[in-house]
Amino acid sequence: MAMEVSTLEDWPLFETVKQAKEENEARIDILWAVGGEENVNLALELEACTYDEKKCNSAACKICNREYRMQLVNPRVSMMAECGLDHWMLTVIDYKGAFSHEQLTAFDVRKAKDRLRKQLSRAGFHGPIFGSIELDYHDECKLWLPHAHLIVPITEQNVNAKKALIQQYKRMNLCHIKNNRKAKPLQFDSINHDYHQVSYCFKLSFFEVVDIKSKKGNRYTRKQRLKRRNFCDSLVSQHLAGRRGYVFSFDER
Ligand SMILES: [Zn+2]
Repeated sequence: MAMEVSTLEDWPLFETVKQAKEENEARIDILWAVGGEENVNLALELEACTYDEKKCNSAACKICNREYRMQLVNPRVSMMAECGLDHWMLTVIDYKGAFSHEQLTAFDVRKAKDRLRKQLSRAGFHGPIFGSIELDYHDECKLWLPHAHLIVPITEQNVNAKKALIQQYKRMNLCHIKNNRKAKPLQFDSINHDYHQVSYCFKLSFFEVVDIKSKKGNRYTRKQRLKRRNFCDSLVSQHLAGRRGYVFSFDER
């Protein structure tokens, strides 16, 4: 008999407390190994949370982040079921916003969220729309690429807004950040597994994207842990942005 999933904690792919603790241990080791004042201070904070259970609520802490993601996902999945509407998972990729690693500390997530809200509002969307802004580092071109994963209710108004948003993006004539790749700034997916897709929208962690070419010539990408220095810098910037920093919300009451 399939297990009924009624909270994110019951979903088999969600990390356990033990795994979150192990991930914090790995982060602490890397922060110490790379060193520098900011990294060491963050390592000490994560250590206090991991071993002395002095809650840090840092966006760079896997244990606190895990709890926070449950707080974000659980009520929203219930709300989605109760409202009786189907939803899209919308991915918006900001190719024009790509930047080099040196600019990571200057990345203004608040501005990125404001811009996205304006785009949604101009296209005519109504909420509640929620999700997060994420940064992935593309090793091939050495650029950070901001993108958003959002949950959008499917209503007549939003079906029209979807068309308007697609038109807006067509007019922008965007280029991919890598050679010979077609830009795909918008992707609307239907939702068939609430916990999987809603928690995907609230991963609140950054990865490195590696491009791989199979023997048959097919291209695909893999997400993996960032290289040490980039990883530490990304943890520090998430820590500084605060735990709500990368969380996005539009027209949510
Ligand atoms: Zn913590």
